[in-house]
Amino acid sequence: MNVKTRFPPSPTGSLHIGSLRTALYNYYFAKKHGGTFVLRIEDTDQARSVPGAVESLIRTLARMDISYDEGPYLQDGHLVEKGPNGPYTQSNRLNTYRTHAMQLIEQQQAYYCFCTKKRLETLRESQQATKRPTKYDRKCLQLTQAEIDKQLDLGTSYVIRMKIPEGKTIFQDEIRGTVVIDHAEVDDQVLLKADGFPTYHLAVVVDDHAMGVTHIIRGEEWLSSVPKHVLLYGWFGFDLPVFAHLPLILNPDKSKLSKRQGDVSVEDYLAKGYLEEALSNYVSLLGFNPTSNREIYTRDEFIEAFNLKKINKSGAVFDVNKLLWMNGQYIKQLSGAKILARSKPFIEEGGGVDEALGIRAMEIEKTRIQLLSEVKDALIVYTMQPMYAADLLVWKKSTREDAKEQLLNLRVFLNAKDSSMFDTAALIEKGLKRYIEDNGLKNGNVLWPLRVALSGQERSAGPHEFMWVLGKQETLKRIDHAISQLT
Ligand code: GLU
Repeated sequence: MNVKTRFPPSPTGSLHIGSLRTALYNYYFAKKHGGTFVLRIEDTDQARSVPGAVESLIRTLARMDISYDEGPYLQDGHLVEKGPNGPYTQSNRLNTYRTHAMQLIEQQQAYYCFCTKKRLETLRESQQATKRPTKYDRKCLQLTQAEIDKQLDLGTSYVIRMKIPEGKTIFQDEIRGTVVIDHAEVDDQVLLKADGFPTYHLAVVVDDHAMGVTHIIRGEEWLSSVPKHVLLYGWFGFDLPVFAHLPLILNPDKSKLSKRQGDVSVEDYLAKGYLEEALSNYVSLLGFNPTSNREIYTRDEFIEAFNLKKINKSGAVFDVNKLLWMNGQYIKQLSGAKILARSKPFIEEGGGVDEALGIRAMEIEKTRIQLLSEVKDALIVYTMQPMYAADLLVWKKSTREDAKEQLLNLRVFLNAKDSSMFDTAALIEKGLKRYIEDNGLKNGNVLWPLRVALSGQERSAGPHEFMWVLGKQETLKRIDHAISQLT
C-alpha cells in the first residue's frame, strides 16, 4: 500500500501545540512507510481566515523541520504549489465541492435548506431551553420540488444539508478500536454554505479522496464527525481511509490545553527561547514514547518507532517544566558556538559580544542555561566588570586582610605566567592547584576571593573557567579591581 498522510490546518493564526503534534505524527507515519505527506490549507471558513497565516504556517513548519511532498510552499516570498493533486488550498477548489454537493442532491442524500439565520437561532434557543439536543428540525426536508424550484428561482439564499439516515456508524479507529456512534447524535450537517463555500466536512472528504490520502491522523475532537464522513465516503462511492484519532492535550489540571493557562502556540515557545528540536521532541512524547526508558530521541528514532497502535487513548498533560528541562538538555549538547549563534535573535543589535569570548562563555554556562533567551543575561558577567560588596571577597573562614594578601600574591603569580596557561580551563586549574600546593595555601583562602573577584557572585562557574573565558588581561584587571575594593 502506498501510504499518504496529510496535515490540513486552517489558516486562523499561529500553529497550535496540538497541531504541531498532529503534523509530526503524520510526517513520522509517512516517513516510516516510505509514503507521501501532504500539506493542505483548509480555508473554507472565510470569516476565520487570517491574512498572512498561510505564509507564517509554512515558515513555522520549515523552522520545525517538517517537510512535505505536496502542497503550498514559499518561493522568494510567494506562495507556489508542488504535487499532482492541487490546488492544495480549498478556496481554490470551490467548483469541485459544488459538483459533489449537487451529486448528493441528485442522489437525494442531501437537500436544500432555505431557513433563515434567525429561524435557526430561535430553534436552537428553544431546544437549549428545553434541554433537547440542538439539531436542525428538517423543516426544509418537507418542501416539495415545486417549492424548492420557486425559492431557487427567487434567488433565496440557501445551504445544502446532509440527510443523515437513521441507524449508526460503526468504524475502526487505529487508536480507539471499534467505535460506534448512533445517528441520533448526528445533525443534518451543512455541506455547502450560503456563500458557496463548502463546510469542513464536505471539503475534507472530497479532498482526502481526491488527493489519495490513505491514513487520517488527527485530534480526538474530530472523532464525533466520523459518521458524517463515513456516510459521505459511502455516498460518493469512495474507499474509506484508515482513521486514527489522537488523544487530547491537557493542561496540568486535566482541562483541555488552552491559552488561559499558558502559551499554546509553537511561535510563542520559539519566541521564548525554546529550541525547535527540543519542542519537537517534547511534543512528540505527548501520546507516545518509543521505548519508555528515556525521553530524548532523535527524529529518526521517532520515525523508526512510530506506530499508531502504540499511541495512548487517554489525554496527555502538557508540562511546561518538563519541556524546560528538556530544552536545557538539548542546549547542553550544543557547542558554545552554536548556542551563541542561535541566541542572536535574543541579543539586541549593538549588544554584540566579542565572538570568541562569547563562545567560551557559552561552553562554561551551557549547563546552567535552559532557554536561548537566557544567554544575553548569562553573558553580562563576562562582558562587564561585575559589581559586588567588598565583603563578598572574604571567605567565611578568613579575613579581609588575608583576602587582600591572597589576591596581591595571585596577581604577581599570574602576571609572571605566560598567557599560554590561559589556553584551556584545565591548564589554568592545574596551574592554580600547583600554586596553592607549592605555597602551602588552602583552597578556600585563594580560590574564593579569586572567584568572587572574577564573577562578583556568591555562586558561579569556577575561577579557572572564568579565567579561561576572560583571558589573562581581563583576569588581572578584575583582580586589581577587587584589591582596590579591599583597601
Ligand atoms: N482543518 C482541520 C483542523 O484545522 C483539519 C481536521 C482534519 O484533520 O480532518 O483541525
